[in-house]
Amino acid sequence: MESDKNRQLIRDFITAIGDDPEREGILETPDRVVRSWKELYGGYQMDPAKILSKTFDPEGCDQMVVCKGIEFYSTCEHHLLPIIGTAHVGYLPKDRVVGLSKMARLVDCFARRLQIQERLTSQVAHALYHQLDALGVGVVVEAKHFCMCARGVNKQGSLMTTSAMLGVFRDNAPARSEFMRLIK
Ligand code: ZN
Repeated sequence: MESDKNRQLIRDFITAIGDDPEREGILETPDRVVRSWKELYGGYQMDPAKILSKTFDPEGCDQMVVCKGIEFYSTCEHHLLPIIGTAHVGYLPKDRVVGLSKMARLVDCFARRLQIQERLTSQVAHALYHQLDALGVGVVVEAKHFCMCARGVNKQGSLMTTSAMLGVFRDNAPARSEFMRLIK
């Protein structure tokens, strides 16, 4: 029932932009669009605490952990248009570490919702900082916003960069430069 209603929403959308939902080529489009929501907006069903719940002892390793170039897809909450970008995530563990794939899943968890890039960056950083009780966290996000490229100011090459630094990454300049050097 719910998905009938959702399919109708997409049919109405197609009509509103001036096309015909009965046209052969797009007859199944409403169904495909509604099915894609599960993936594109699946972040609402993901729990960051659960993603980071499986931690392990780094066994004496007290070095920075950096996962560079995590590609993500998000949706701008002001225009419902894609944001496509890359996140670099690093932390200095206190006594717990997580698998690298968990860092990528954490980015997806916050990216697959309606977002602004600033909040996405800060949510990833805070979740990691608090869940791992890390000594420091750094997150740098570079992304292309379709609302900037395809409409409005039409700046096709523009890339937006945001960062969030917590703990020693905020207070200690050498730690921060080490992180910035590692993600270059
Ligand atoms: Zn936008």
